[in-house]
Amino acid sequence: MMNGTRRTARPIRWAMVGGGCGSQIGYIHRSAALRDRSFDLVAGAFDLDPARGRAFGAELGLAPERCYANHEALFDGEAARADGIEAVSIATPNSTHFAICRAALEHGLHVVCEKPLCFTVAEAEELQRLAHDRGRVVGVTYGYSGYGTIEQARAMVAAGELGEVRLVNLQFAHGFHSAAVEDDNPAIRWRVDPRFAGPSYVLGDLATHPLHLSEVICPDLKVRRLLCARQSFVKSRAPLEDNAVTLMEYENGAFGTVWTSAVNAGAIHSQKVRIVGSRASLEWWDERPNQLSFEVQGEPARVLERGMPYLHPEALAEDHISVGHAEGLFESWANIYGRFAAAMEATDRGDAARLAALRYPDIAAGVEGVRWVENCVRSADAGGTWVDYL
Ligand code: NAD
Repeated sequence: MMNGTRRTARPIRWAMVGGGCGSQIGYIHRSAALRDRSFDLVAGAFDLDPARGRAFGAELGLAPERCYANHEALFDGEAARADGIEAVSIATPNSTHFAICRAALEHGLHVVCEKPLCFTVAEAEELQRLAHDRGRVVGVTYGYSGYGTIEQARAMVAAGELGEVRLVNLQFAHGFHSAAVEDDNPAIRWRVDPRFAGPSYVLGDLATHPLHLSEVICPDLKVRRLLCARQSFVKSRAPLEDNAVTLMEYENGAFGTVWTSAVNAGAIHSQKVRIVGSRASLEWWDERPNQLSFEVQGEPARVLERGMPYLHPEALAEDHISVGHAEGLFESWANIYGRFAAAMEATDRGDAARLAALRYPDIAAGVEGVRWVENCVRSADAGGTWVDYL
């Protein structure tokens, strides 16, 4: 059970690039990072519009001289201070992640970067090399992976409670963009423009979330080859897809399917992970994240509840409140940010044992998300054919 005690000896001096006023994802970064005082927000370049960014920083209580016009000024300005930042979170549109992440690492900063990490595997591997060479942590905000119910699913698969894993059925298919809503909304417009979004829309924006969860739950599954078909039901979005279906063969003979969509009319999130084993199945749904469905063949289905003592210890380690009170996305993100902070501190202290005991969505997870999208796009653009996973 978490008690709000710090995971680090002192708060890490932290800044944000992006995540400004009115952005979709900025607030949850701040809520998660500041929750248990692992981080202290001391600087930022919050907005594409420098004046709006400065005004927003002031509203957050930052010193005016530490609200910068852009990430270059932020990194240079903070490097010149004795009390300069030690870590930065990047919550800007996709097209900027690579350059900002690279610049942050070159300035010796730990990084938390939004997904997708960048556009190509070559770029992602460059960031991975740089992080390794500089000895810096890069966390990637696959924010659903902080749920205790996901830890429970991982522990159950590891303990063989499902039998042999045969099928992985993933979906993240909402309906909010069933019409061309981007015409009136700049925060959606960049998502369907390859110059800002990259080589995909829903594959990178949505599908990589349940994909990452499946990697956490079933770490032994490795994709051998895949087939992807993608469509642009709102024609103006082409070449970017607003719907896609991917089939995956894993190296051990298991099989996976991923449906991702922004045109699943009427659906809210519909992010689901179903793991089917030879004996039993598990199902998790992000709209009911405190519950995990456990269905044993031949027995009545069970619903496992977050916080109950019958769960595996890993599923209870980061609980925030006793069972019956709903936890949600803010708690999941806070757990992930807590692990980022612990990894950053352990890295700075050279504490290899502590680092080895920590699992968080790291740069390898970020690289893997980019790799999966790249393979899906290669398959889809070849007419929806099987491609070996590269
Ligand atoms: P948004 O368009 O709502 O907000 C982007 C913010 O970044 C704005 O404040 C904008 O002014 C600022 N900005 C843009 N370019 C900048 C730059 N060069 N320097 C400084 N600030 C800049 O976008 P969003 O929905 O918040 O998405 C941002 C990122 O977060 C995207 O990469 C998106 O894929 C990701 N995202 C992740 C999740 C998740 O669950 N992890 C959820 C939503 C969005």
